[in-house]
Amino acid sequence: MANSLEHLCEACKVGYHAPFDRFEKLAVEEKGPAFLMRCKYCGALWYEGLHSADRISASEAHRIFPKADL
Ligand SMILES: [Zn+2]
Repeated sequence: MANSLEHLCEACKVGYHAPFDRFEKLAVEEKGPAFLMRCKYCGALWYEGLHSADRISASEAHRIFPKADL
């Protein structure tokens, strides 16, 4: 888990929610299916699974999605 809320935009401080067009999809995990998403406003990385989404650090994202261009 990422630990700081300081650099998040107001929307990401609340969580992973609409408007979803604030996110760009960086990578897809075929087995999930799960997606690595990045907020266009603050750069926060989100791991979106089937039922929930969690904010993750860049190092976590790199481990899960080694091909993603962070
Ligand atoms: Zn954000």
